Amino acid sequence: MEKAYFFRKEEKGVKCTACRHSCFIKEGMLGICGVRANINNELYSLVYAKPLAVAIDPIEKKPLFHFIPGSKALSIGTFGCNFRCLFCQNYDMSQGVKGKSLEETRRMINNYSKRLEPEQVVDLAIMSNIEVIAYTYNEPTVFAEYFLDTARIAKKNGLKNILVSNGYYSEELLKEIIKVIDAINIDLKSMNPEFYKRIVGAQLQPVLENIEYLKKHGVWLELTTLIIPGENDSREELSKIAGWISNLDPDIPWHISRFFPYYKMMDKQPTPPDKLIEAYNIGKEKGLKYVYLGNYPSDKENTYCPNCGTLLIKRQFYHTTIVDLDIEKGECKKCGEKISGVWNMD
Ligand code: SF4
Repeated sequence: MEKAYFFRKEEKGVKCTACRHSCFIKEGMLGICGVRANINNELYSLVYAKPLAVAIDPIEKKPLFHFIPGSKALSIGTFGCNFRCLFCQNYDMSQGVKGKSLEETRRMINNYSKRLEPEQVVDLAIMSNIEVIAYTYNEPTVFAEYFLDTARIAKKNGLKNILVSNGYYSEELLKEIIKVIDAINIDLKSMNPEFYKRIVGAQLQPVLENIEYLKKHGVWLELTTLIIPGENDSREELSKIAGWISNLDPDIPWHISRFFPYYKMMDKQPTPPDKLIEAYNIGKEKGLKYVYLGNYPSDKENTYCPNCGTLLIKRQFYHTTIVDLDIEKGECKKCGEKISGVWNMD
């Protein structure tokens, strides 16, 4: 347990300033994410240095396709999430501590998590010859203090840091993120505020604003949309998402991910392949240069040169082969077209 860096004291409680929920938390209570608690009128992170999952994953699994392709990421996540997506694929981690008392939450975190200090995370990465640390599995915002401390040490040691995130950061946290985080995959789940409210338990607008902020400040961004039948899969909605991304920057990779029934959405069918192809085509029509299908093996996981169509990177079941991409220059070897991304550790 560590005192939080993002909060302020108020009359009769504290206000957490890590995410856009801005929870007001009374003594002995927890915020919406379930892992940040008011103890003696101070805010504490209950998951600092308490990862629930530590694993080594291909960077493509995050997914990040234009960020040091073929590399491995030491990946860590804790309990807790500031969203409550009805389709969550990691709901045991993200929602497992919600609705519990402070004492029950502390007991659960202590029983299931290991102790791993930021220095130890970085040591583990270095000993394993891994150059990237990923803060992932649950929403990293809820363990902001832990990932920031780890990322600072990692950066000093020449490693790179990435987030896999819902993008619901406060401005205060954003200012710290841009100092140490090299790349982020953000879920842009819908362009419909009602979807965010009903299915996710949050607002759309802060996510859009944060994506714009990160783009402006030079953090490498890729966006992911899970296509849920009947919820966000209309032509109109897909056009809105793709159009918004393209207006911001057509070089931002857009990952279209296939939905499978999970958690509180067991009544839905998996996304039909035709719908994935339709979304892919809409992305291209809207001018996006890099559109990818996820959770659905196909040649639409490969990177092609947007100018001459040459195959640059081939991907199959997390096996990545650099074909005609010059990773030193970040260019197509055939026509010299600049390919946006972070292609090497320099
Ligand atoms: S990080 Fe958690 S406690 Fe803080 S504002 Fe967000 S949901 Fe509330």
